[in-house]
Amino acid sequence: MNCISTRNKNISISPSLGIIKGISEEGGLFIFENIENLKLSLEEIGNLKNLSYKNIAFNILKKLLSDFSDSSLKNSIDLAYNKFSSKEVTPLVKVNQDYILELFHGPTSAFKDVALSLLPHLTVEAMKINKIDKKLLILTATSGDTGKAALEGFKNIENIKIAVFFPNDGTSIVQKKQMTTQEGNNTFVYGIKGNFDDAQSGIKNIFTDKNIENYLKEKNYSFSSANSINIGRLIPQIIYYFYSYINLLKKDEISLGEKVNFIVPSGNFGDILAGYYAKLLGLPVNKLVCASNSNKVLTDFYNTGIYNKNRDFLKTLSPSMDILISSNLERLLFHLSNDNDKYIEKIMRDLKENGQYQISESMLEKLQKDFYFDYTDEETTRKTIKKVFENYNYLLDTHTAVGYSVMEKFKKLDSSNCKNILLSTASPFKFSKSVYESIFEETSLNEFEIMKKLSEKTKFSIPENLKDLENKKELHKNIIEKNNIDKTIEVILCSE
Ligand SMILES: *Cc1c(COP(=O)(O)O)cnc(C)c1O
Repeated sequence: MNCISTRNKNISISPSLGIIKGISEEGGLFIFENIENLKLSLEEIGNLKNLSYKNIAFNILKKLLSDFSDSSLKNSIDLAYNKFSSKEVTPLVKVNQDYILELFHGPTSAFKDVALSLLPHLTVEAMKINKIDKKLLILTATSGDTGKAALEGFKNIENIKIAVFFPNDGTSIVQKKQMTTQEGNNTFVYGIKGNFDDAQSGIKNIFTDKNIENYLKEKNYSFSSANSINIGRLIPQIIYYFYSYINLLKKDEISLGEKVNFIVPSGNFGDILAGYYAKLLGLPVNKLVCASNSNKVLTDFYNTGIYNKNRDFLKTLSPSMDILISSNLERLLFHLSNDNDKYIEKIMRDLKENGQYQISESMLEKLQKDFYFDYTDEETTRKTIKKVFENYNYLLDTHTAVGYSVMEKFKKLDSSNCKNILLSTASPFKFSKSVYESIFEETSLNEFEIMKKLSEKTKFSIPENLKDLENKKELHKNIIEKNNIDKTIEVILCSE
């Protein structure tokens, strides 16, 4: 099964090359051509019941990554998920009537670890498959969590350098410290004076910049991306949708074939898109519920068919979802438009030139059939954290709280009676101050003192990787102008 570009479907390459390239040369994103053809039957899904997370991962990856050998996949999966603190990798917890899929037990306590622990190994393998002897520079824009997870995943991997750009004033204190203390001989970290969208578009432009391309050739480097525009980021995320379903099946909470809803705290639309792919691959899904914070571009889009990023960028309690350009929506629109690459090319040009586009009535109908979109404001986010802790003794992080609150709204509208699985995207200790102040009182303690106090008062334990962060040495202190990403990249390429 090949990957094709959303903006030119004549460009068709193997999955391994798709992972290496990250983005297509004309700016389109790679998707699997006719992924529906790989659909698992209910019987096949039922057969996953006695398998571990790793083995479920192997079964799904084998279908999608058709040019990888079995042994290389198994090896990559082992290397990736041995680093998780939970044997289950992504445990499923029942909270009241609903289920929370905890995706934050990886090395950096955010869901992005699930994909970014695996991607580096898939990338190394992909280079071997294609007999590429170039070196790679992985470029990553981050609103906070991707950066650290990518740095951890790619650190000290031979022939690869990784550079991360984050909005200098846009992440949480813990997120920033996680990145600026990053070890490894191939890691580069920069704060930029701008927001996440500035970082993301800056990097997207680099990928198609002809001058830099020549420079790269000279240095025998290629670019790749660890952002969710890379198809290699999406694939590992499909696995936990299957895993959580199988988990409910095993516990006899559902019967085989029974549909479930997934509620996903969303930003760049990668996580929820993986859920859509799980559905196309045969997983019995009723609705995919996209939860946003006050940067509610996606909710407005769902209600009107107009995507309009011309609005103020708000800094919220859930910074990893502070995004006005949700890149992965492009992939969904490609599918909803019946693979109309010319159309996608046009609306993405509209977005770039005018900051907005509108989709057709029939596409909007299709979107509303499979999805529900809604958002949560700041006050409700705080109240939700408090309520869920007090009523159910469960500690939500701010992003997951946005999802929880949208789930509550959705349940009032949903007449399907399907079980609800909420994806929990970060450890509450990554956002200790916001979580603490939502439940208890305002405090002038610093972030790390609050972390300890939150743990003492709630009896939830701090993840190991966050425990000793306070005393780690800051190794990266560079702050750059948003227009200087290109020059910075030249410097990185010249460094040894
Ligand atoms: C990245 C992130 C999200 C949003 O995920 P997308 O795939 O970008 O939609 C939500 N919550 C947290 C904690 C994240 O790090």
